[in-house]
Amino acid sequence: EKADIGLIGLGTMGAALALNIAEKGFRVAVYNRTAEVTRAFKAGAGDLADNIVTTESHEELVAALSEPRAVILMVPAGRIVDAQIETLRPLMDKPDMVIDAGNADFHDTRRRAEAAKAAGEAFLGIGVSGGEDGARHGPSIMGGGTPEAWDRVKHILEAIAARHDGQPCATWMGPDGAGHFVKAVHNGIEYADMQIIAETYGLLRDGMGHDYDRIGALFDRWNDGPLQSYLVEISARVSEAVDTRTGRPLLSVIEDTAGQKGTGRWTAIEAHHLGAPIPVIEAAVSARNISALKDERERVETRFGGAVEPLGDIDEATLEQAMIAGKILCYAQGFEMLREASETFGWDLPLPAIAEVWRAGCIIRSAMLDEMAAALGDAPGTPLLRAPAFADRIERALPALRRLTVAAMRSGHAVSAHAAALGYFDQMRRARGTADMIQGQRDYFGRHGFARLDDEGRDHHGPWAD
Ligand code: NDP
Repeated sequence: EKADIGLIGLGTMGAALALNIAEKGFRVAVYNRTAEVTRAFKAGAGDLADNIVTTESHEELVAALSEPRAVILMVPAGRIVDAQIETLRPLMDKPDMVIDAGNADFHDTRRRAEAAKAAGEAFLGIGVSGGEDGARHGPSIMGGGTPEAWDRVKHILEAIAARHDGQPCATWMGPDGAGHFVKAVHNGIEYADMQIIAETYGLLRDGMGHDYDRIGALFDRWNDGPLQSYLVEISARVSEAVDTRTGRPLLSVIEDTAGQKGTGRWTAIEAHHLGAPIPVIEAAVSARNISALKDERERVETRFGGAVEPLGDIDEATLEQAMIAGKILCYAQGFEMLREASETFGWDLPLPAIAEVWRAGCIIRSAMLDEMAAALGDAPGTPLLRAPAFADRIERALPALRRLTVAAMRSGHAVSAHAAALGYFDQMRRARGTADMIQGQRDYFGRHGFARLDDEGRDHHGPWAD
């Protein structure tokens, strides 16, 4: 009996995805560069082994599949994906499909989609979020490619995806690189969500003197309110965890240097290409970069002192409201970046459906995304910041963000993500800003010209001597 779908790359994600596919009743043929990995995978698959066909070459894999064939690639992004496509394609027929499910750069996905289209071949680029556990039990899937290609494998992708109120979190986002782009913005938002939580943790620890258990209990309590989310939930678990080696709170023994695979940085760079402001995500990326300068931070502390003062009259409710405001402002920026990309690349991205597909399975899943989906659907074309339901919430939560940011800065705490959210809001809410000075300077040194408030045209000049 031929398999329904093929999968190449039995690493962390690929193995989990293959088991998920097998569990949902599909036959999956697998191939991995290192054959022992394939054998061990099948041996460890338990009851699901019946639905798994192991193969030891690309030829065998292709021969094991029912037609038209579809093969998922779960290998490291970049040249390895191109190499896999080059090996597979000559073995396949035109209608057969390659599905790149890794974290591809969406520019690569656009290029591969273009090449496939020119050759009359089927290709999909899908973003898969939720880590290993998500891949195994239900990831959030963001698809890009032709609608026909998506429709052919949709039943499998929907079956393995996470569910929110019974609705599968697997959605076609648009042509070519749309799915991988949406996945990348998801990761950028993930960086920002994590940074806002980390800053809040720092204020509780250093500005309010809470111990780790108390911080964990507070995150747990917040997880029952408007901030309900996977990241707040796991932050509670991390806060209260005890180190098995020393018996001390786990956080107290973890070095304060953040790792990154660069997806947040990538989102920030892409935002600059698009001219889309995402200062909260940028602050989060910068904070990780600064965290990596551990040795230099030690030297700077020696020179300037690292003491911080208590936060004063800031209470837990203020911290919660500030987090709510920061989160909304960050997501508002992320959705506007998606809107900008949608126009630039001609994708027609479904913003409400993006909020929906993020409601389960992925790392940024949260209760608020449900409300964001509704708000973006009710007011199409309106940025989240002004969408009625969220404008009201921002209005209520903003004073807390301002009070908290000011108090934190006054007492020496680093709150760059909070400050970036507030700075964005304050710049956005003033129709008359300060870029008149920038334009004056540009005209002075480069005769770049400026627009006048009282006239047409954009090529007016100041009275500078030549
Ligand atoms: P792993 O490192 O666990 O697995 C990599 C897989 O690719 C292995 O099966 C490996 O085979 C194979 N591989 C590596 N190099 C080559 C090569 N040159 N030729 C052929 N096969 C190769 O990676 P992950 O499963 O973590 O990641 C896979 C993709 O999924 C990446 O694009 C990643 O960014 C993305 N992703 C990862 C997430 C995660 O949480 N880990 C979450 C979402 C997406 P071999 O056994 O022979 O080494």
